[in-house]
Amino acid sequence: MILRTPGELRKTCDDARASGKRVGFVPTMGALHEGHLALVREAKARADFVVVSIFVNPTQFGPNEDFARYPRDLHGDAAKLAPLGVAAVFAPERDAMYVANEETRVRVGALAETLCGPLRPGHFEGVATVVAKLFALVGPSVAVFGRKDYQQLAIVKRMVLDLFLPIEVIGHPIVREPDGLAMSSRNAYLSAEQRARALCLSRALGAAGAAFQAGERDASRLASLARAEVESAADSIDYVSVVDADTLRAFSEPIATRPLVAIACRLGKTRLIDNAVLERSPS
Ligand code: AMP
Repeated sequence: MILRTPGELRKTCDDARASGKRVGFVPTMGALHEGHLALVREAKARADFVVVSIFVNPTQFGPNEDFARYPRDLHGDAAKLAPLGVAAVFAPERDAMYVANEETRVRVGALAETLCGPLRPGHFEGVATVVAKLFALVGPSVAVFGRKDYQQLAIVKRMVLDLFLPIEVIGHPIVREPDGLAMSSRNAYLSAEQRARALCLSRALGAAGAAFQAGERDASRLASLARAEVESAADSIDYVSVVDADTLRAFSEPIATRPLVAIACRLGKTRLIDNAVLERSPS
């Protein structure tokens, strides 16, 4: 069932809840791949009525970003979702989500001031706003997001706490291609040669992870190791950072908590991100 309007979506979800169903929700921008489908399976395991939204949200794209050329394939996406037993797909038009005269935005605090935040002004405000709108329409008990967009997940979790939204937010592990590249709708932009070089992101995470396991606790040395891998293959680097996985703040002392290694870089014009939380191996 493909729904196009907020009214249809709200009624469908109201009816599901009224008949005793637990509603699960997976928001996406479409061009679905195995990473998205893993989120849907996770939602299916936690809820009996799963809604997937497909909406390329204009307010989270900057003026020089890829909103216009972002891949769109609603029919292909619907075919991929059909075997998974999704109850409804919500694919609204822009004007249905942002009605005439709308002017409200969800402002995000310090979690948006690091990593991608300064490089993509307004991005997380756009994300938080559309997620809040979608949550209001769906009324899910559980929503599943990918850890691929780690900062987005942290911001959504913070918003749910701060606004007292009665929603359990689940972070699903990053789904990777067999060679380690994190799945992304933007991988479709890569030439074969760029696709090969894109392995520098997962290699960089591996290098930092190995050093951490070997006892390195200096965040800048871990970041340098990762950066060297990215530098060897990417066309430009937005950041290679090692920050606290909960606060996303830089470490001023040796790492005593869980570090997040986060990378954003470009292959040609294509911006790719990846990350890993480094855990101490059990001794
Ligand atoms: P997007 O369509 O890129 O906005 O992504 C929709 C959701 O899928 C977000 O919660 C992403 O974090 C998640 N996602 C995208 N790629 C992956 C991946 N490779 N592994 C896990 N989750 C992903």
